[in-house]
Amino acid sequence: MRKDKVSGPGPDRAMESRIQLEEIRMLYGSMMFSMLATFVVSLIMYLVLLGHSNSTESLSLWFAVMVLSILLRSWDTYRFIHTTPDEQGRKSWGRRFLIGSTFAGFWWGMLSWLGYSVENEYQTLIVVCIVGVAGGALATLSYRWRTIVFFLMPALLLLELRLVLESNDFFQVVAYLLAVFILFTLSTSRRAYKNSNQNIRLRIEADFREDALTAAKNEAEQANEAKSIFLSNMSHELRTPLNAIIGYTLLLQHDDSLKSKQQDNLMEINVAGELLLELVNQVLDLASIEEGSLKVCMEPVSLDRILHQCVSLVQPMADKNRIHLNCNNSVNAHVMADPTRLKQIILNLLSNAIKYNSANGSVTIHCSLVGDERVRIQVEDSGIGIPQDKLSSLFEPFNRLDINTKKIEGTGIGLTISKKLAEMMNGSLDVQSEIGKGSSFRVELQAHHVSSLPDTPLHPGTGHKTPNMDPDCLARARKILIVEDNPTNLRLISSQLNTLGYDADIASNGREALAMTRSNNYSLVLTDCNMPIMDGYELTAELRKNNNRVPVIALTADAFPEREQECLSAGMNGRMIKPVSLQQLDNMLGQWL
Ligand code: ADP
Repeated sequence: MRKDKVSGPGPDRAMESRIQLEEIRMLYGSMMFSMLATFVVSLIMYLVLLGHSNSTESLSLWFAVMVLSILLRSWDTYRFIHTTPDEQGRKSWGRRFLIGSTFAGFWWGMLSWLGYSVENEYQTLIVVCIVGVAGGALATLSYRWRTIVFFLMPALLLLELRLVLESNDFFQVVAYLLAVFILFTLSTSRRAYKNSNQNIRLRIEADFREDALTAAKNEAEQANEAKSIFLSNMSHELRTPLNAIIGYTLLLQHDDSLKSKQQDNLMEINVAGELLLELVNQVLDLASIEEGSLKVCMEPVSLDRILHQCVSLVQPMADKNRIHLNCNNSVNAHVMADPTRLKQIILNLLSNAIKYNSANGSVTIHCSLVGDERVRIQVEDSGIGIPQDKLSSLFEPFNRLDINTKKIEGTGIGLTISKKLAEMMNGSLDVQSEIGKGSSFRVELQAHHVSSLPDTPLHPGTGHKTPNMDPDCLARARKILIVEDNPTNLRLISSQLNTLGYDADIASNGREALAMTRSNNYSLVLTDCNMPIMDGYELTAELRKNNNRVPVIALTADAFPEREQECLSAGMNGRMIKPVSLQQLDNMLGQWL
C-alpha cells in the first residue's frame, strides 16, 4: 500500500514492519536453493580450475571458505525457518542476511583473484561463472535493494578490477563489456526490486483489509449476540410483570361484584398492559428478524378467512374512531403465507389506516389478482397521507416520520416488521400516498391455486372449545401440577386454572415437582422454564428419564422463538408464552387432556 493510503501512524508502522518481515521471509525462503546451487557451481569451478589456476592453495582456500560460508548461511536459514513468526520480525535477521550476502558477493569476486589462471579459456570461464552467478542472484536477492547491491557490487567490481589489470587486449574488451553489464544489472535489479516490493505491498494491503473485515465481522457478531441475549432477558423481565397485570385484569373481568366504574378502570389497565406487551413483542420480532432466527411456516391460507378475522378484530377500533371499514374481497383467493404473520401484517396496516385517519373517514380492503401467480391485498385509507419526501424512510425502524402523528400512539416499527415479514413470505409491501388525500398500502403474495380447498381452521389441532364453565366440564377436570417460583405468577395461573375448572397442585422448583410426581398421578405439568434449584428443562428431562410420559407444557416469559426448540428437545410437549389468556390456556389444556 502506498503511504498516502494509510491512515495514521499506527497502521503505517504495522504495514511497514509486515513488509520488512515479508521481504526477509522471501529472501530466506529462496536460500536453500541458492546455497545448493552455490555449492554445485563452486565445486564445478574448483574441480575445473584445479591444476590450471596459478595457485592451487589459493584456489583450495577459496573453495574451503566458500563451503564454510555456505554451511554458515544454511545454518542461519535453518534457524530462521524454525523460529517463531514474532522472532522472524527481529531486525537482526535482516542484518545477518546482508552480511552473509555481502560476503558471498565478495568471495565470488575473489574467485577471479584466488583462482586466477594465465590460460585465457579458464580466465574466461571465471568471468562467465561470476557473471552467471550475478544474473542468478537477481532472481533470488532482489526482494531487497540493499541486499542485491551489496552482493553484486563486490562480486562484479572485483572481477572488473581483475580484468582491467590484465595486459591482454581480449580481457580489456571484456572489462568494457562487464562495465556495461554492471550498469545494466543495477538498473534491472532496481526494477525487479520495485516490482517485488509493489507485489508484497499489495498482498499485505489485501491481508490487512481482510483482517480488518474479519475483526469487524466478529465484533458485529458478538454485538449481535449480546443484543439478542439482552433482548431475550429484557423480554423475560418485562413479560413477567405484564403477565401478572394483563392476566389479573382478564380474571377480574369475570368478577360480577365489581362496579362498572371499576370495570372501566380495569379495562384501562388492560389496554395499557396490552399496548406495552405489543411493544415488547414488536421489539422482539424485529430483533429475531434481524438476527435471522424468525421462521415463517408457509401454508395455503384462505384470504377470506384471514380478512374476516382481521376486520372483526379492528372493527371496535374503527367504530371508536368513527371510521367506515369496507372489505371487498371479490377474488376469494388462497395465498401461500404464514397465517399468523399475514394476520400481523394486515392488522398493522388496518390499525394504521384507522389511526392516521380523521373522523368519518374510510378504510377499504381490496383484493385482486396480479397476473396468474400473485394476489394483491390493498389497504386504502382517506387519512392524513404521507409526504412524498418521507416515503423512502417509511419502513425504517422507529421512524415515526415526524409528521402530524405525535398524539397518536405508536412505536414506529410495525411497518418495518410488516415489510420484512412480507418479503420472508416471498412477497412485497409498498405504498402510494398523497398528503391530505390518504394512503394505499399494497401487500403482494404468491397465489395458491386450489379453488376447492376446504376452509380449514388456521391452526389445525388448536381450534378447540371456548372456555366452558358448566358443571359437566368441572366434573371432568383433572389434576394439574404447576411448577413456578414467582408467587404472583403462581397465584395467577392457579386462579386461571380454577376458573377453567381444573384442580392444581403447586411446586416452587423442579426438584420439588419431581418428588410430587412420584407420589401423585398428574394429568399434565405446567412448568416455568427458569427456576432455582432445578429448572423446567431439567425437570422434564428427569421425568422422561424415569419413563414418565405426562404432558409437560412450558409456561415461560421468554418469547424468543429458539426457546421453543429447547423446550421440545428437553422433552416438553408444548410452550405457552406469558401472559396467557384464559382462552389460550383452555385451548392448550383441551389439546392434551
Ligand atoms: P407506528 O404506527 O406504531 O408509529 P408504523 O411502523 O406502523 O409505526 O408506521 C410508521 C409511521 O408511518 C407512522 O408513525 C406514521 O407516521 C406513518 N404511517 C403509517 N401508516 C400510515 C397511514 N396509513 N397514513 C399515514 N401515515 C402512516
